[in-house]
Amino acid sequence: MLEKAPVSDSHWDMVVIGAGLGGLVAAARLSMAGKRVLLLEKHNIPGGCATVFQRGKNRFEVGLHALNGFLPKDPRLDMWQSLGLNSAIKLIPLPMQYRVCWRDIDLRIPHGMEDCIEVLSCQFPQEHKNILRYFLNLKSLVLPMLDSEANFKDLIQFSRISAGEFLDQHFLDKQLKLILLANLGYFHHDPYTLSLLWFAFGQISYMEGGSYYIHGGSQALSDFLAQKVENCGTVLYRATAKEILMEDNKITGVRFFHQGESVTVKTCGVIAGISPILVAGMLPETCVKILGENKEIGPSLTSLYCNHTEGLIKLGWQDYNTIFLNENIPGMDAFIHKKLVSHSELGLKSLGYSLIDYSQIDHGLGKNNPFTICHLDQIQDWPEYKSKDYKEQKVSHANSMLEKLEPWIKDLKPSHQELATPHTIQRYTENPEGAVYGYAQTMNQSMFLRFNQRCSIPNLWFASAWSRPGGGFFGAMYSGWQVAGKCLGNRM
Ligand SMILES: Cc1cc2nc3c(=O)[nH]c(=O)nc-3n(C[C@H](O)[C@H](O)[C@H](O)COP(=O)(O)OP(=O)(O)OC[C@H]3O[C@@H](n4cnc5c(N)ncnc54)[C@H](O)[C@@H]3O)c2cc1C
Repeated sequence: MLEKAPVSDSHWDMVVIGAGLGGLVAAARLSMAGKRVLLLEKHNIPGGCATVFQRGKNRFEVGLHALNGFLPKDPRLDMWQSLGLNSAIKLIPLPMQYRVCWRDIDLRIPHGMEDCIEVLSCQFPQEHKNILRYFLNLKSLVLPMLDSEANFKDLIQFSRISAGEFLDQHFLDKQLKLILLANLGYFHHDPYTLSLLWFAFGQISYMEGGSYYIHGGSQALSDFLAQKVENCGTVLYRATAKEILMEDNKITGVRFFHQGESVTVKTCGVIAGISPILVAGMLPETCVKILGENKEIGPSLTSLYCNHTEGLIKLGWQDYNTIFLNENIPGMDAFIHKKLVSHSELGLKSLGYSLIDYSQIDHGLGKNNPFTICHLDQIQDWPEYKSKDYKEQKVSHANSMLEKLEPWIKDLKPSHQELATPHTIQRYTENPEGAVYGYAQTMNQSMFLRFNQRCSIPNLWFASAWSRPGGGFFGAMYSGWQVAGKCLGNRM
């Protein structure tokens, strides 16, 4: 291990802003390669959305419901192993993808393509052949993404197709289409703008690679990565980046606030583990234009974090991840022309909501029995942050979320409950509009067209859910992995 440099006196090889998963992985990879990295994080813990919070003796998972597992030849596997995560992190396999409930349909969607096809064909026998064709076609889109020698030109033709259009090409049954979109919230809020390729990779990796929780919660992952940064770098907490200093279109340093003081450090390179929109506010005005404007921001989430003294199992509940689709939605075509974009029209928000019951698995969060009720949301549907209306709406919304579960779980009385809205996520991560997956994963903002990891300012990089490849735990991590690889390739 190299001798640590004092924070403000030295010249850093790289300053990384934000210890979300993108920033953490980028900083960890550079540090493991012997680079002097300074990682600035405004909070006192690493992780951003990938954290755990404590209330009394109880610990609650902030973000992680399910990680999408590895596929054969999956490039994410090399990242996972190279960072030492295979031995340090215990992945807890989840028993199935999810249970989905809508009107009189109640299905447990398993892992594995064959089993999936069987379950869906039992419910929709007339669509059996189409179900088979759908999954095979979906998988055939993913294989080139895993093959370094594949010809990506074959994929470009699909980059202009939405997940909704792809479903329409395979099925007539609008109810089946809705069921196949039950986990839409893992990606975006509108199937007719959601990139088919992004959707395909996610769906196939959950189905074929399995889904997982991390023992000890996502904080175990973030803490481990932060330790890796300390290899020959430094993680500085309660340090809020304010300005990227430049001379002659070259980065010369970063100014940040730490313990009430303004500190300036020297560096020739910056990796932004935060939204490019925030970076624009840190650059001289002349540089801001090149960061790209008018991009659509992706959805946020509202989560009700709860705890039950005895655990939901005692109340007869048996599933880890259940998605309750909104009974008022007649089928997938309800999404056409964005009819559902105004979530508030539907009371309990758009598509539906999910219940994650951590006590069904070996969660490693302590002796408590945490569970979370979560749904897609948008900040515009909430009154002004901290206003009287906002506080009142939070209380009534939390109660209505619990009421929705009453028919399913009797006497559900949490011993603790706490609602986090898009405002909470925005306040905590600084992500504009409380976006959890960065820019929306629409056709013209995904895959080849995703916000680039580099820009025309030399040595300014982007490693987070906002940049390529995109959001989610693995999306953000892989972004950091690729950015660090490119920096090392540049002989920084
Ligand atoms: C409730 C919820 C559930 C989710 N469920 C899942 C799931 O089941 N599976 C999945 O794959 N994904 C899930 N996600 C999405 C996933 O967590 C995110 O897409 C991903 O973690 C984002 O990582 P990021 O690198 O973009 O950084 P972020 O998590 O956005 O973190 C950014 C970090 O930068 C810091 N920061 C901001 N500004 C500054 C500054 N000026 N100076 C210093 N630091 C700064 C923030 O404090 C924060 O720590 C969920 C997210 C949420 C909120």
